Amino acid sequence: MNKYFTWTIGCQMNVADTEKLESAMNLMGLDNTDDVHDADVVVVNSCVVRSSAEDKVTGFLTSLKPLKKNNSDRVIALMGCMVGDRTHYLEDKFPYVDLFMKPQQFDPLIYLIGDKLGIDPEGCIGNLTVKPNISAYVPVIHGCDKFCSFCIIPYRRGRELSRKVSDVSNEIELLSRRGVKEVTLLGQNIDSYGHDLSDSVDLSSLLEAVHDISDIKRIRFLTSHPNDMSNKIIEAVSALDRVCEHINLPFQAGDDEVLSRMRRGYTRDQYIRLIDKIRETVPNVSLATDVIVGFCGETEQQFEKTLDLLKSVEFDKVHSAAYSTRKGTIADRKFEDNISLSEKKDRLSALDTLQKEIQTKINLKLHGETTEILVEGVKNGKIFGRNRNDKIVYIEDEVDNKSLVGTVKNVKINKTGPWSLSGSLSN
Ligand code: SF4
Repeated sequence: MNKYFTWTIGCQMNVADTEKLESAMNLMGLDNTDDVHDADVVVVNSCVVRSSAEDKVTGFLTSLKPLKKNNSDRVIALMGCMVGDRTHYLEDKFPYVDLFMKPQQFDPLIYLIGDKLGIDPEGCIGNLTVKPNISAYVPVIHGCDKFCSFCIIPYRRGRELSRKVSDVSNEIELLSRRGVKEVTLLGQNIDSYGHDLSDSVDLSSLLEAVHDISDIKRIRFLTSHPNDMSNKIIEAVSALDRVCEHINLPFQAGDDEVLSRMRRGYTRDQYIRLIDKIRETVPNVSLATDVIVGFCGETEQQFEKTLDLLKSVEFDKVHSAAYSTRKGTIADRKFEDNISLSEKKDRLSALDTLQKEIQTKINLKLHGETTEILVEGVKNGKIFGRNRNDKIVYIEDEVDNKSLVGTVKNVKINKTGPWSLSGSLSN
């Protein structure tokens, strides 16, 4: 037993969980392989936020059956949000899967590997990854208390539970000593961080504590909720120079009646006023959002209001999805999923086309400008990084210069597109 293969789908929380599991397996002497046929341990980290994600996991698990048949010693584990109430169904459907592990709860796999290798796994399980990248995800609050009617996360990830400021700071301090330059603080609802700790702790105080760690050059946070984004948080983004000017603030739908059925807890006007407040306080901010099209009962006119909101706010990035029913959610129990699949696809395509035009226009304004990037590595055969506004920037004339990784550089933009920018190093 010496090689493992991991396959992750879904949010950054899952990416962070997989990184920690990989780290534990590395400490136990296993190496990563990109070829699933080569692996002694195969881990699938699953997501249930959309039915398409669940379908992909199901398809991948099915493809593993012959691998287990060829080598019964191979360990196959399913982790993440698919493991929960329906585990018995999954055990029946995939009898060749050895372990089913809830989010973050991968200890059983580590102990099983320890048994097989005849070693003690104590000490291998922890928050820190062995070989962190330049940029690291750090979960700071788990779960969600919001119960939006379409969302399965509160049922699968549980209620909100914040880590102590000192735990988070210690982890980031150690990450910084291992070369990490940028951290993204993660939470399903990051803006409610600290409400379960004490009155004086919130996301703004956590940002201040992380800001004091001198070798961390950039701090980001994900994902915000309009109802919990306080003035203090917005002011912290403005005041703390290592906190990047980028906020992901999902609005989900542009119509008040749809928002109400989604149980989002705000109106379109309240959302727009919040955006105005953010832009007043952080003038150079970039904004991302999440949108669902084709929610139960959404009329064509109501969908038009979503497009209208995109036009008026002009987001830098939009994560869009067609609604799909998640079993057991409030929407599943109360509403009919009555928008046809083809209608949902048409709405998604109209939204994506509009957003592509908006992003093209926004990014074109950066042509000829100089932007500061943290160089992260190689992507599509080119050295790349992200600027403070979370835009991907390629450095065209430094294809092989890996020594740039981890440094902060100025790049003069000479090419723009909807998804990325590129240019040359500049002083
Ligand atoms: S805020 Fe709503 S959409 Fe976001 S994780 Fe919580 S329940 Fe889901």
